[in-house]
Amino acid sequence: TPKIIGLTGGIGSGKTTVAKFIEDCGFPVYYSDDRAKDIVNDNEDLKIKIKELLGEKAYDANGLYNRKFVAEKVFNDADLLHQLNEIIHPAVRIDFENWVKKQTKYLVFKETALLFELKLYKECYKSLLVTAEDNIRTKRVMDRDDKTYREVETIMEKQMPEKDKIKLADCIIYNNTNLEDLKEQTEKIIFDIE
Ligand code: ATP
Repeated sequence: TPKIIGLTGGIGSGKTTVAKFIEDCGFPVYYSDDRAKDIVNDNEDLKIKIKELLGEKAYDANGLYNRKFVAEKVFNDADLLHQLNEIIHPAVRIDFENWVKKQTKYLVFKETALLFELKLYKECYKSLLVTAEDNIRTKRVMDRDDKTYREVETIMEKQMPEKDKIKLADCIIYNNTNLEDLKEQTEKIIFDIE
């Protein structure tokens, strides 16, 4: 079985960009957040559980997950959000385990925003954190998503502080300069993992 490297970083840190560089090097990456978005539509068992928790309206007339309805329903209801996550996270875990079984490389990467928050790093061989100064991350997200400074700051304030992530990470990429530097650091780290 391959070694699993957990890849994470806060909003705008560059973890998706790093994931693409890793794929360019020929290593497979599992995108947890993207997969979670597919699973809520594909997994019938999960659909039933979500409807039981949130009501039939959690899915539209075409049977597709109603993200807007769900977001409004769990907004300001931390307990309900927790219950929803308790349903979705195990399904993602199983999906990941099935994905790993199909891989043939000696290293595979699991990209997830919540590697430390959900203690998923404990199930990884190593954790790889992408980090950058808050003001740099904010600016990148403002450019990428057309969000205001305050909107990005609000998201950032809800995430685990960088200093706490830095303490827990095995490998760290500091993404404060340009994409060439980011690629170079990424390649150095992944080929040094043993
Ligand atoms: P999120 O969690 O918000 O999805 P992320 O950690 O996946 O963010 P990316 O999407 O990879 O971050 O990067 C954020 C934005 O910053 C992207 O538009 C990306 O192209 C850009 N970016 C990342 N690193 C650099 C860099 N070193 N130089 C210039 N632009 C960068």
